[in-house]
Amino acid sequence: MTDTLNIVALKEEILKGNKVALAKAITLVESNKPSHRQMADNLINALLPYSGNSLRIGITGVPGVGKSTFIEVLGIGLIEKYNKKVAVLAIDPSSNLSGGSILGDKTRMNVLSTKSEAFIRPSPSRGFLGGVAHHTRETIVLCEAAGFDYILVETVGVGQSEVAVSAMVDVFVLLMLPGAGDELQGIKRGIMELADILVINKAEGELLNKAKEAAQNYQMAQHLFPNKSNNWITQVVLTSALNNEGIEYVISLLEKFKTVNTENGSIQSERSRQNLSSFNELIRGLIEKVIQEQLVLSQLRIELESKIEQGIINPYEAANLLVNQLKVILKNS
Ligand code: GDP
Repeated sequence: MTDTLNIVALKEEILKGNKVALAKAITLVESNKPSHRQMADNLINALLPYSGNSLRIGITGVPGVGKSTFIEVLGIGLIEKYNKKVAVLAIDPSSNLSGGSILGDKTRMNVLSTKSEAFIRPSPSRGFLGGVAHHTRETIVLCEAAGFDYILVETVGVGQSEVAVSAMVDVFVLLMLPGAGDELQGIKRGIMELADILVINKAEGELLNKAKEAAQNYQMAQHLFPNKSNNWITQVVLTSALNNEGIEYVISLLEKFKTVNTENGSIQSERSRQNLSSFNELIRGLIEKVIQEQLVLSQLRIELESKIEQGIINPYEAANLLVNQLKVILKNS
């Protein structure tokens, strides 16, 4: 990518819904080059007034549960029956660990990807909990400015990634398998608590009874979970993504979620809260970067870490020493 992108032209093309321009803008916000960062900030600022109109949906579940099949039929349903525009942002936290990619290896969403009303974008495979979460927030803004009504943020259920995704979406959909115990599915209680819609997929044929049983169990378990601040009660749904069953009902629940929580203001207040926590997260990240970049500080940090390990100094005192050194540098700069 060149350093002389025309941001004004890019903005205009995005507002027209040009997907090539959108893809270019996402590459820009994902770039780590300082000159790109400045352009990305300018672009995001210019587009912010045109953002915010979508329903941001997090979709997660273990590999093989049927996420891509589900998103394919959900996306096609939204486009064909409801005239909506759908963006899919696939985040794969596994790819930087294993070198391979759970989300990217197979051909995914074959039909959806050919639709002019759809936009599908895998995330880069760099550390998820660091930069990518922030980039995804910006990518959501870009997709909204390009006129997408539904933004589906997909991630593999591996623990921390669901929490990060739930902090950037309005509604959180957890896909589960019928019959398999929660432990087998690697799903922690905390993740289930995050779900606004709990989908038991592959609920067909021989698995249907098991799926119904699982639905009942989850429904009963709801009482054990704390109430959500918006008073939404987690809905349990049976689907067969393969046979396109139950998907219409999921769409109706998403619509209901949007209507109810727009009217009572909780989507807006939740987004403000998310922005604030993202701001604070970024501050921590930037301070961390300053420490890494300043030789004096990074050396002091190594010394202090070693002293902590040897039990010579306590972490509280060590942290204060480091911050005091940071203050000295700031004062002299
Ligand atoms: P992902 O890894 O969560 O994205 O799962 P995929 O969408 O790739 O699906 C994994 C496998 O399950 C594929 O072979 C799908 O065809 C199959 N699958 C997905 N949804 C269903 C379903 O509702 N019923 C059945 N029987 N198979 C399904």
